[in-house]
Amino acid sequence: QCVLMTTSRTTASTCCYCGVGCGVLIEHDDEKILGVTGDPKHPANLGRLCSKGSTLHKTGDLAARALYPELRLGKGMARSRTDWDTAMDHAAQVFGRTIAEHGPDSVAFYISGQLLTEDYYAFNKLARALVGTNNIDSNSRLCMSSAVVGYKRSLGADAPPCSYSDIETSDCLLIAGSNMAFAHPVLFRRLEAAKEANPDKRIIVIDPRRTDTCAIADLHLAVQPGTDVALFHGLLHIMLWEGWIDRAFIDAHTEGFDALKSLVRDYSPAMVSELCGIHPDDLQAAARMIGSAPSFMSLWCMGLNQSSSGSAKNSALINLHLATGQIGKPGSGPFSLTGQPNAMGGRETGSLSNLLPGHREAANAEHQSEVAAYWGVEQMPLNPGLSAIELFEAVRSGKIKALWIACTNPAQSMPNQTLVHEALANCPFVVVQEAFATTETCRYADLLLPAASWGEKEGTVTNSERCISHVRPAIPAPAETRPDWAIVCDLAQRLEKQLRPGQPSLFDFSRPSELFDEYKGLTAGRDLDYSGLSHAMIDELGPQQWPFPAGAERGTARLYSDGQFPTPDGRARFIAEQYQPPQEKRDARFPLLLNTGRLRDQWHGMSRTGTAAQLFGHVEQALISLHPDELRSRKLQDGQLVRVKSKRGSLILPVQGDEQVRSGQAFIPMHWGDRFLKGLGVNVLTQPAYDPLSKQPELKQAAISLQPVALP
Ligand code: SF4
Repeated sequence: QCVLMTTSRTTASTCCYCGVGCGVLIEHDDEKILGVTGDPKHPANLGRLCSKGSTLHKTGDLAARALYPELRLGKGMARSRTDWDTAMDHAAQVFGRTIAEHGPDSVAFYISGQLLTEDYYAFNKLARALVGTNNIDSNSRLCMSSAVVGYKRSLGADAPPCSYSDIETSDCLLIAGSNMAFAHPVLFRRLEAAKEANPDKRIIVIDPRRTDTCAIADLHLAVQPGTDVALFHGLLHIMLWEGWIDRAFIDAHTEGFDALKSLVRDYSPAMVSELCGIHPDDLQAAARMIGSAPSFMSLWCMGLNQSSSGSAKNSALINLHLATGQIGKPGSGPFSLTGQPNAMGGRETGSLSNLLPGHREAANAEHQSEVAAYWGVEQMPLNPGLSAIELFEAVRSGKIKALWIACTNPAQSMPNQTLVHEALANCPFVVVQEAFATTETCRYADLLLPAASWGEKEGTVTNSERCISHVRPAIPAPAETRPDWAIVCDLAQRLEKQLRPGQPSLFDFSRPSELFDEYKGLTAGRDLDYSGLSHAMIDELGPQQWPFPAGAERGTARLYSDGQFPTPDGRARFIAEQYQPPQEKRDARFPLLLNTGRLRDQWHGMSRTGTAAQLFGHVEQALISLHPDELRSRKLQDGQLVRVKSKRGSLILPVQGDEQVRSGQAFIPMHWGDRFLKGLGVNVLTQPAYDPLSKQPELKQAAISLQPVALP
């Protein structure tokens, strides 16, 4: 029952990479991390680790770290080392002056799914309660904001209803737009083992590429990029025709079925097969597998979310669960996988500009009053905040005059990099709070604040299955690095002298557990209620899934088992929306469709994984992959350098033949930035078009051209 805490040389903690949230045992000598193994008692991984988690101890090279505060006193000048007091005084002075002269919406905070829940909470309180702006957004906007919209409007709350164990027991799994084998490797291993144990388990993969995840698929639907909504409607069309729906569930627990039924009438198998580029028999086979399975689960990730119709894709998939009654039961339910280690914690604490802590809405007057009363401030900011794309456009136009970036690298990860670099170069004051000094964004920092990193800091994270784990420090933070929450509270206390003189501090926290204890009160009575939990209880009981209300003895594995949904009338909603094609299409000038994604052994912009030589063994360098037929028709050779162009920019890469990629398409991994490439990395090519509801950009699709580069 009791999770191992700390012995003399082993500390139980949580992996800092993906949303699986594996438990790790850190071997150390109190000075250095010596090794990392999987924690057999952690419910996410039961002792397993992937190549990234098991090499965490090889990523501790201090040469890559930001170790001391550095300040630049004028644009064009070099930064020089300073002390914390000078650095924070300067930051508070510039932010305070900017707010006084231009108003609270002239500053912005851009934070990260890599932060811990306590860090997130401190940032949110700083922006909304003290500064008075909703201009706080996170790189999770690029990752899961479409899933947030999908869950909320279909089911009433942003809550994945399933557990990892459902993946093992489900009779039929639909994996859509997710290369789990690379992006969520330990979860994929669990699924692989379950398939080996039960070969009758049916697995359908929807992906334009034949990824490694397809190795365990009974059926791979290699759809044309972006056609998922049409596919899901087409599946429902067949299921209605064949009678593979649960009419009793629909009548008892849902609203809006008739409108959807009439909409999907137009999505005939012939039309959908042609549009999606798949065989009608495969469409029929998928519908049969789903419709006849005793339990049905779907898993999805960026392939659905990173789209100009990401919200529609999420809801169209959830429609299949509501139509078949496959939700709230063992082995059933729609399960969005989170990319980052604490993307879920960001959703909980309100770390998207349109949210407030405790799954509240920034635009909802009742929610504003509840949070303002809890924090003891007059009111919450009323102006809508800027989402990531809008935020960097506002920086470039001069509307944002002071920008605070924490634990993320927008100079590599945002689409339309040319604009983002221009924005950062011209912003009057950029603060970068970072563990790694090597990121592209650090170059633009007028003030660089060195943050403590994994293995050195404490807090909590929530993984894809709503499970909250304790992240524990094993070794002291190096040099002058500080935990993120402490940096935020330091700035806040200095700003309070200008913005709330003479009033008691709102940021009187001395350890992360105090932030957690204050924050959890904002979850009380909400769908995610974990007011019954504390750091000490996680230590005693092990990781726990929310909801965990006061008085609970354990967390909640599955939601909606009683058929009640957190909507005003307790019923889930069918969402009837037409398929909309992606924003950018192929044409004669840009005849290929670019897809982007992860590799097995790298993480994000490689600030950490790029320090471990072993992790380059799988893929050594960035490449653009095309089908071998495409190479032949263009008279290109493997390894040849090509200039890849989109309407927004270009970069030079070697080309490789890859049968996973269909003709007419191309794939570039997302990890390499301009530290490694000639050009600004793959996102110089990607486009800023975004979903109108979730504001998540369409990072998965851009039209490109290729030209061989003549060698000198
Ligand atoms: Fe870390 Fe994710 Fe690998 Fe688990 S699956 S070890 S959380 S990177």
